[in-house]
Amino acid sequence: MNEPDVPPPDPALADADGYEFELSGGHPALDFTNTISRRAAPEDCRDRLTHYGRLVSWGVQAKLVTAKDGDRLRRDASERPRAAAAALRRVVTVREAIFSLAVAVARGERAPAAALDALNAALPDALAALRVGAERSGFAWRFATDETDLSPMLAPVVRAAAELLTSAELMRVRECQSDTCFWLFLDNSKNGTRRWCDMKVCGNRAKARRHYQREKTASRRPRKSTSRRS
Ligand SMILES: [Zn+2]
Repeated sequence: MNEPDVPPPDPALADADGYEFELSGGHPALDFTNTISRRAAPEDCRDRLTHYGRLVSWGVQAKLVTAKDGDRLRRDASERPRAAAAALRRVVTVREAIFSLAVAVARGERAPAAALDALNAALPDALAALRVGAERSGFAWRFATDETDLSPMLAPVVRAAAELLTSAELMRVRECQSDTCFWLFLDNSKNGTRRWCDMKVCGNRAKARRHYQREKTASRRPRKSTSRRS
């Protein structure tokens, strides 16, 4: 995956990089916190929301925004680049708050008050957008579309985060056990023993590392007695 060094100036074109987000968190709020990797080391940190177009792509890929609305948002953003940049900043602030709260839970630590304040600050707008919509059979929660809002994916994320924090599912929030990953996920495994955000990524990396360590140890052993090197 190639990361552009400089964000393209036109947010309407900025989605054209075709970035595909990993949605392995099992919950929209956790998937949203996973739009950044390797938080621990600033030099190593990879924030995938590099520009507004990526935020729209994430919303569409997470199925919180329709493809049609995604196109509209990109068009609007190209006419209102400052508003688009502000929307991205606002959304990232909430993302970091959700991460702080969820990772504290996963680590068994006390939730930081500032993060809770930030989530609560975003809650009134999110809940005000809630509507009951008619389905083919029955009704479902929906979010009202405000044509001027450049971050319609925020309301469902905020609502999902608030629901997760107040539900029994919270006890299933885990942090990937890779030292560098920092991704969160909902552990829906039967016995609650899932360790990796994605077995294919961090799980295999850990397996390869263990294998390497074993090989190293094994190859060292005979050398200890037979080495003639000075
Ligand atoms: Zn991971």
